[in-house]
This record gives sequence, C-alpha cells and structure tokens, in this order.
Amino acid sequence: MPSPIAPWVFLVKIFSGSLPATAFVGWYNGHPDYRDLAIDLSLERVVVVGNGNVAMDVTRILAAAPEELAKTDIADHALDVLRASKVREVVMLGRRGPVQAAFTTPELKEFGELHGVDVIVDPADLELDEASAAAMVGDKTATKNVELLRRYAARGDTGALRRIVMRFLVSPVEVLGEDGRVAAVKIERNRLAQSADGSLRPRGTGVFETIEASMILRSVGYRGVPLADVPFDESTGVIPNAGGRVTNTGGDAVLPGLYVVGWAKRGPSGVIGTNKPDAAATVVLMLEDIAALPGIDDAHRDPALIEALLRERGIDFVSYADWQRLDGFETACGQQQGRPRVKLTRVDEMLRVIRE
Ligand SMILES: Cc1cc2nc3c(=O)[nH]c(=O)nc-3n(C[C@H](O)[C@H](O)[C@H](O)COP(=O)(O)OP(=O)(O)OC[C@H]3O[C@@H](n4cnc5c(N)ncnc54)[C@H](O)[C@@H]3O)c2cc1C
Repeated sequence: MPSPIAPWVFLVKIFSGSLPATAFVGWYNGHPDYRDLAIDLSLERVVVVGNGNVAMDVTRILAAAPEELAKTDIADHALDVLRASKVREVVMLGRRGPVQAAFTTPELKEFGELHGVDVIVDPADLELDEASAAAMVGDKTATKNVELLRRYAARGDTGALRRIVMRFLVSPVEVLGEDGRVAAVKIERNRLAQSADGSLRPRGTGVFETIEASMILRSVGYRGVPLADVPFDESTGVIPNAGGRVTNTGGDAVLPGLYVVGWAKRGPSGVIGTNKPDAAATVVLMLEDIAALPGIDDAHRDPALIEALLRERGIDFVSYADWQRLDGFETACGQQQGRPRVKLTRVDEMLRVIRE
C-alpha cells in the first residue's frame, strides 16, 4: 500500500495517539501488521485530519454504536476496544471549504444515518465565497454534499450520545502532548485564495484555536514510495509505465519484464473495484509479452508451470484456492454469529486453516 504523505505540512511530534488513519483502518480491519496497535479510546474527543473517504470511514467507525458495528465484519479485537470507548466527539478537520472536500455523497449520507449521533456543521462554514459558489456549478457531488451539509447544519445538536463535528477551512499547525501522549491539536483558521493554476488553496489567517483530544488520525493523502533500481516519477509519485509496462523516466522505452499495477501505476485514486480490472489489464500484457521476453529460460515461459517452479525452489506460497478456503472458514464462522464473516487476524492462524 502506498505510504501516507510524509513529512506532513504541520509539526507532528512523536506522541502516542498520533497516527496515520491507514494504521487505524488496518487495526479495525484485522490486518495482521496492525492488529496489536495500542488504540486508546479512554478520552472524550478524537481529531481526524482530512476530508476524504478514508477520513470519513475512520470517523464513522469511531462514532458508530458498537451494537451496529457488531453486525459487521469488523475485527473482534477492535470491537472489544470500541465497545469500551469513551469517545463522544469526533472532529474532522478540512483545510478547504465544503465545495473542495474530497469525500463523496454516500459516505456523507451515512453520517446522518448513524444511530445516536449528531452531525454538527457550523452554518457559517457553508456560506460560500464567490469562487467556491462558481466552482460548485456543474459539480454534482459538491452540490449534493453542500445540500446535505446544510441539512445537518439546520438539524444541529439534538443532544445525541455522540457527535461528529465537521470543521472546514482549518489546518492543524501543531500537535500538543502531555507525558508523551497527544493532549490537544492547535489549528489555524484558513481563507481560500486563487493560486496560479486557478485552483483555490488554503491560506492561514493567523487566527488560532486549540482543540483538546486524546488521539489524532492523519488522513491527508497517499503517495507511492520508490523502489531500488525501479524508475520513479517524483512529480506524480508513480512508477512510469505504458498501461502497466514499466518504462524509463522519459516514458519512451519499455523495460522488459517489469510491470506495475494499482496506485503505483496510476496514483492513489479509486477503490478496490477500480484496481482489480486495472491489475487484470497489466496481467494481460504480461501474458502477451512472456513468449518473447528476453533472458527467460524457455522452460519457464508457460504460466501454468509457475506453481511447479515455486515448489522446486521451496517457496511457501498461498494460492487463490487457499484463499478461498480461508474465505469459506471466515464466512462460516460469521454465519454462526449473523455477521458477514469473522476475520482471522494472525498469519499463523490463517495458515493453519489453509493447511489443515
Ligand atoms: C486507509 C485506506 C482505506 C481504504 N478503504 C477502502 C475501502 O473501504 N474500500 C475500497 O474499495 N477501497 C479502499 N481503499 C482503497 C484501496 O485500498 C485501494 O484502491 C487498493 O488497495 C489499491 O490497490 P493497490 O494494488 O494499488 O495497492 P494495495 O492493495 O495496497 O497492494 C499493494 C501490495 O503490495 C505490497 N508491497 C508494497 N511494497 C512492496 C514491496 N517493496 N515488495 C513486495 N510487496 C510490496 C503491499 O504489502 C500490498 O500487499 C482504502 C485505502 C486506504 C489507504
């Protein structure tokens, strides 16, 4: 997975409780690398920085009633921590206005459907400057988002048990800590200014505010990281390629035998459903090329022989059929609890199910 953008534009000291949203998502989804993350939800407020769908997802998980989450395939260890959560308010920070927000309407709509949750939006944040109002014309997602946000603003605080507070035109400038832990986030109010390329960028106004919080989740975008000996386009953060065949940085020569898929191929956009056909398209090119690729033993040109080669080399690999077995096990466990699946979150447990 591409890395969260770093270094970040504001000062992040090494306090526990300040982490990338990616890690938090990995934790509640049962990714083995993150399942042992220490998540402390013992205080009332969490701040989520960012206005994309990942920021929306982590906010929703933190605000949702545990009884609702218990019906999903959320990892059991996360459910236990969320059941004991003292978090009552999740504050989302967007550095630009509602028209520029990257989240999509279904995710915003889901906020309004959460039981026992108020969605708080300051009506003043929805008074659009002239350039934003013009940008919204013809932008269906922005128009629907602003409509929904206006509904949330009108509904206001009904005294629900938990709140999602959506702030716009604010940037974090410093994470403040106490005893090595996150204690607060200092934010600065922004205004929008037209930049040279015509886009509206945030500019600090010198007006600051401090929000107390026990955890800060950073979700401000993703960027590919270069690999040794593989070309990398620093300006776009992708591996240069022609439809998946890796090229030199100039883009005029294909490097035989090197291929790329997903966000490393196109940049960090799209969901799993976008990346599956994208990966399949690259594999089609690999199959097309294999007969004529230089430097390959003819005995290895038949893709059907790959498993035999892995076995010959003593590689412990997992096949699609193995994954289907694990999938069957997890969904069967889920059925017993009326859930889509119960996830195994340790690699050795997964291998045991596959191999037994
Ligand atoms: C926090 C977060 C939440 C998301 N939530 C959703 C969601 O709910 N639904 C949805 O549809 N999409 C979601 N997405 C988007 C989805 O994850 C991506 O669209 C998709 O995973 C991109 O596919 P990919 O192949 O580019 O990368 P990945 O799926 O990340 O696959 C890359 C793989 O390469 C491996 N790898 C990396 N470096 C190396 C290396 N040097 N050597 C060997 N292996 C390596 C990684 O371990 C990883 O397994 C989310 C993304 C993020 C970041």
